[in-house]
Amino acid sequence: SNVKLSTNSYVKHDTIGPTQLGRFQRENATLLMLVRNEELAGALRAMRSLEDRFNKNYHYDWIFLNDVPFEDIFIETTSAMASGITKYAVVPSSDWSTPNWIDQDLYARQREYMTKIKVLHGESESYRNMCRFYSGFFFRQEVLDNYDYYFRVEPDVEYFCDFSYDPFKIMKEQNKKYGFVISLHEYEDTIPTLWEAVDEYIQEDEGYDIDMENNIFDFIIQEDSISSAKVFDSNSDYNLCHFWTNFEIADLNFFRSDKYLRFFNYLDSKGGFYYERWGDAPIHTIAASLFLRPDEVIHFEQIGYKHSPYFACPSAYSYRLNQRCLCDYAGTGNIHLEAISCLQEWWKWGGGKTFMSNY
Ligand code: GDP
Ligand code: MN
Repeated sequence: SNVKLSTNSYVKHDTIGPTQLGRFQRENATLLMLVRNEELAGALRAMRSLEDRFNKNYHYDWIFLNDVPFEDIFIETTSAMASGITKYAVVPSSDWSTPNWIDQDLYARQREYMTKIKVLHGESESYRNMCRFYSGFFFRQEVLDNYDYYFRVEPDVEYFCDFSYDPFKIMKEQNKKYGFVISLHEYEDTIPTLWEAVDEYIQEDEGYDIDMENNIFDFIIQEDSISSAKVFDSNSDYNLCHFWTNFEIADLNFFRSDKYLRFFNYLDSKGGFYYERWGDAPIHTIAASLFLRPDEVIHFEQIGYKHSPYFACPSAYSYRLNQRCLCDYAGTGNIHLEAISCLQEWWKWGGGKTFMSNY
């Protein structure tokens, strides 16, 4: 009894509603995937993994976003894979294109330059649209209007372990605004002038939106004393640490806030999403560092997760047993063992103390 499939409307794959199916109480939250039609196989693999490890017990909705309409085969197969309701929406082109004030000649020259110095996706326009979309527009999509939390999923990611809790519930109960699993250093060539812009923004803010006494800013600031031992040295005060946003569980209302929008608009006006290749990860991370209190950010240590080439495998053997993890702790790419990781910085700053109290 499928409803008629169409590319830009809601589809529910089962007549049994999720509230009847649900074994556990749910929060007002959704799983969210921006994805291309040609990534269908990887999308299904990621869904299968998250369904088996978590969502089969909860039946949270899945929302799929695309800059072009989804094909029927995409809608049909992802709806079949989901244990919850599925929704599909096309991103308006105004949220996925270079603003008209972008200097197209400069933009073309910069893409050429970034390609020459071998910046990953240095030539790509769609990648830049994607990064800007995830920085400033995903949370404004109408299909997300009635949700408070989202869990970002990408094609081909894998979840290694049974979830031992509902991360949305923790977000809600502990008043968390932003949750991550992996944190690492950014490639500086993608953001040569980002920090300058952030610095300017902080000066101009004059403490209006930013409370430097009660945020996590120090987590992303270079510590001179240990810089000689650093693998990743930055030309600015920014230590290049960012939360890896391909996994992200966050409160949409944080991104919808005036603070965040002011910050995004300011950065956007610099053109760095296009003239450089600013990623949504440093943008989200710097915003969280400026605007959130230490107790509002959470590192989900017990979640096993892989997005090539890195992964997180819980470090406690007992967790790996209890949660039936399928990960090779000593394997290449474990973020706990890689120099590119920023988890050391996180713990050194005191991130461990901000962890969940009751779980
Ligand atoms: P990476 O993780 O930085 O290598 O970037 P990805 O290629 O994985 O892109 C990040 C997310 O955006 C993934 O969920 C992709 O499926 C999605 N994505 C990237 N580019 C496009 C695009 O042009 N169109 C659509 N619809 N999704 C995209
Ligand atoms: Mn990816």
